[in-house]
Amino acid sequence: MAGDSQASFSQSVRNRIRETYKHRCVICLAWIDTTQCAHVLDAATPGALQLRNAVTLGVLPKGYQKNALANGMVQCPNCHALFTKNRVVLSLPIPVLKYLEKYVRSTRKAVLKPLHEVRHVLR
Ligand SMILES: [Zn+2]
Repeated sequence: MAGDSQASFSQSVRNRIRETYKHRCVICLAWIDTTQCAHVLDAATPGALQLRNAVTLGVLPKGYQKNALANGMVQCPNCHALFTKNRVVLSLPIPVLKYLEKYVRSTRKAVLKPLHEVRHVLR
């Protein structure tokens, strides 16, 4: 699929996504003038399940908008094609995953907060 996904970002959000990533593909890291804005969570039907699971796991807050800046990234046309066909998968870096695992295992359930409320400590 060429261009942006179905539940498209507005033009102003697309511009902000490209500015944020400085026209650099998040997958192959190439700088390219013809970047495409891709959704982190799929804008089409599979994205509803992804979003529901992310909210259930506490990774994202309720009310997360799939067409907002936070759900956007820049990809070159080649990587976007592979990403759209699920040939490329994004994952958190191993140190972040280890931190999250440690947080979940070491925090008492009574004070355990949703991950979206504590991710600021990763910065
Ligand atoms: Zn690329």
